[in-house]
Amino acid sequence: METMIDSRMIMTDFLAALFDKLDVAAVAAMSKLPSGEKAAYTLFTDKSGLKECVPFFPAMPANAARAISKLTREEAPSKTVAVFLRPCELRALTELIKIKQASLDNLLIISYDCSGVFPFQKINLSDETKLNAYQDAVSTGKNSEGIRPVCAACTRFTPRGADIAISIVGRSADQPLVLSFPSEKGQTAAKQLGLDVSKTVEASPAVESLARERKTAEEALTEQVNESLSGAQGLVNIFDRCISCHACSYVCPICYCKNCYFDSQTFEYFPESYFTRMTAKGTLRMPVDRVLFHLGRLSHMGISCVACGMCEDVCPVNIPVSQIFKTAGSKAQAVFDYIPGENSDDPLPLLAYAENELEEFED
Ligand code: SF4
Ligand code: SF4
Ligand code: SF4
Repeated sequence: METMIDSRMIMTDFLAALFDKLDVAAVAAMSKLPSGEKAAYTLFTDKSGLKECVPFFPAMPANAARAISKLTREEAPSKTVAVFLRPCELRALTELIKIKQASLDNLLIISYDCSGVFPFQKINLSDETKLNAYQDAVSTGKNSEGIRPVCAACTRFTPRGADIAISIVGRSADQPLVLSFPSEKGQTAAKQLGLDVSKTVEASPAVESLARERKTAEEALTEQVNESLSGAQGLVNIFDRCISCHACSYVCPICYCKNCYFDSQTFEYFPESYFTRMTAKGTLRMPVDRVLFHLGRLSHMGISCVACGMCEDVCPVNIPVSQIFKTAGSKAQAVFDYIPGENSDDPLPLLAYAENELEEFED
């Protein structure tokens, strides 16, 4: 962990200082929606709307890396944009940069240690009791009841690659922000903010205690998913109730293809093809290729899955998609000793694959 300082700034001062002292053209963060119930990732172009800004609201209406990819993919913004990202969103962004789907130019990345989010449908801004209980859990370094299973088992909840990191876990909401500035851009920002970086603050022991709880939960989740995946029928049974809506791929930050292969003409069949398959099997469930879609998606992007939970959040039939992708993805990542989004200098294994690698799997 980088040196942390007690900035003496509360959140509203910090947000205003981004415009006043860092002269950013926009701040990208979660904002309350007019309905007053939900929040959405939003670009604020001046200070006037910041009272609606709720950067730590524990929901993920979209993986923000997708939004930042859209903002930067064609060309870098002409002026600096300060971007709030959760650690898994930042890791997804790092993966997208590796495949040239996003750029860091003129972005100031602000991230924080993350206590997780609730399923999007299950949290509203008006849920005071739930939000208070969540805040209690944050300040004591515990998993809050009701957060998504992948969040409760997320061991990579501290930011990697941020310019400014905010320490949340172990602190109450009304305390001044504890900040660190791990990058050169961040160091410059600290100077512009006029912060005294000589008075350092110790990391809260709550971070360690949350890490321990998460590790235990991750082991339990891995065991449970491995058990349900075992046997020839494991995967088929898990995706039994899948309705092939493909929503899980549409929201995945790593599934960036504009025209998904599985929605392409390749998967449009003539009747004869259905008759052949039907005759071979006796019956044929429609639509076809349900499990193939998931296997294909796993092979396309599993190595870069950052276990953000978006796919599971949107599944209309409650399939634990992200728990499966987290577990299966981790296995593929371990083979290549690769942690997605951990280090921007680590090349993607499938791009750096050497001819003589993994020979042990050839026979
Ligand atoms: S997976 Fe959950 S806990 Fe982990 S960084 Fe993302 S939102 Fe936070
Ligand atoms: S597969 Fe699911 S958990 Fe993994 S990165 Fe995509 S949306 Fe996130
Ligand atoms: S979101 Fe759920 S139902 Fe839709 S394709 Fe994915 S797993 Fe199947």
